[in-house]
Amino acid sequence: MIALELVAVWLLVDFVSGVVHWAEDSYGSETTPVIGRWVVGPNLLHHRDASAFVRSSWLASSWDLAAVGATILAVAGLAGVLTWHVALFVLLGANANQIHKWNHMRHSSVPPAIRALRRLYLLQSARHHAQHHRGAKNSHYCVITEVLNPLLDRVGWWRMLERLLAPVLGLPRSQLVTRPADRAAQPSCSCSCARLQRAPSPRRRAASTCSAPR
Ligand SMILES: [Zn+2]
Ligand SMILES: [Zn+2]
Repeated sequence: MIALELVAVWLLVDFVSGVVHWAEDSYGSETTPVIGRWVVGPNLLHHRDASAFVRSSWLASSWDLAAVGATILAVAGLAGVLTWHVALFVLLGANANQIHKWNHMRHSSVPPAIRALRRLYLLQSARHHAQHHRGAKNSHYCVITEVLNPLLDRVGWWRMLERLLAPVLGLPRSQLVTRPADRAAQPSCSCSCARLQRAPSPRRRAASTCSAPR
């Protein structure tokens, strides 16, 4: 039972990470009120320059998620519902950007414990995440596991949300950017996906266009 609860919390964090990532990529800009400069801006920079994100400290790339996590812990504590589920949700969620960052680092720079979690399918691989950065960058938004992305993309979850929100928010950025200009704006990737860029097979070439969200 505990194992099922752990998996449920893990996947919930994965889903929330996808929703936040999708919202930032689709509708955020550096001029978005409140979060534009401090939250969306670094995300957009990461799309343009993956190496900037990799060089930043944990605090620089995770302070916003840590602040949200601390708030959740405080509210849950005051409400008397501070369980291990909430603690795990906050621990994992506050490190979502760091998990994402590991997917843009060279394999040898990733801590052994993280590599072990990848082998257990609890964390996604750099190759899986690289699929987000292909083409219009409008898939594979979840950054924790490899479980939800194929399901959500296959059923058209994100496109469905965009259609529902179109009357209120307009078209998402991915449908406004033309493919040639989008490709021209993408620098080469310096992350561990670079290993794939040298790989010869079509499948590997397709997975090698990562330039990254933060
Ligand atoms: Zn990325
Ligand atoms: Zn992104």
